[in-house]
Amino acid sequence: MKIKRVGSRGYMFTFFELVDTEFDCSTNVYLIDGKDYLFLCDTYLGPKSMLEIKKFINKHLDEKPIIVFNSHSDWDHIWGNCFFKNSIIISHEICREDIEKNALYELNKYKEHCQGEVKIYIPNLTFKERLDFIDEDIEFFYSPGHTNNSASCFDRKDNVLFVGDNIENPQPYLTCNNFDIYEKTLNKYIEIQADYIIPGHGDVANYDLVRKNLKYIKKCAYS
Ligand SMILES: [Zn+2]
Repeated sequence: MKIKRVGSRGYMFTFFELVDTEFDCSTNVYLIDGKDYLFLCDTYLGPKSMLEIKKFINKHLDEKPIIVFNSHSDWDHIWGNCFFKNSIIISHEICREDIEKNALYELNKYKEHCQGEVKIYIPNLTFKERLDFIDEDIEFFYSPGHTNNSASCFDRKDNVLFVGDNIENPQPYLTCNNFDIYEKTLNKYIEIQADYIIPGHGDVANYDLVRKNLKYIKKCAYS
């Protein structure tokens, strides 16, 4: 695991267990050290990995309640939820439904990648369009694209955008065929003009990659 400091209060944790597998990617979990809460974007492959993050928090940060956010319902982003079973776990409402529907099947299918003993925990706080923690300058908003349950986290204070799997290098992995809404989401990212874009996989992204992803989606839409 690698830790990268982002802005004044962000920490990007990068995990490498899926690199030497058919998926061939590193995976990111993003932590924001807020005023009254710690916000954790995605929970990777299980409690063993989340314990490493908890150890980091205990060592370096003030103790605050942790609020967890699931960017979308895919297995490689939600298996650590069970480590935070007493926490608020936020997602888009469709994400909660999709985890409820598909997570056990995916857990069985990909169980060799579990980090620790995984139990499925579904989000316990959902939203439709957006959820704004005003005093924290942190906003979660619906951003369908890679899946139709995808959402993003925007740290207004540091101008950092966590986009889950909506942005990928070299190109996004399409699971739903609604290219119009995907385009809209990427245009919204461009409007935001964040200083840092944190994707679910790979290195910190930039707007060149966002525009490249947008071009790719437009190409798919018209082919
Ligand atoms: Zn993923």
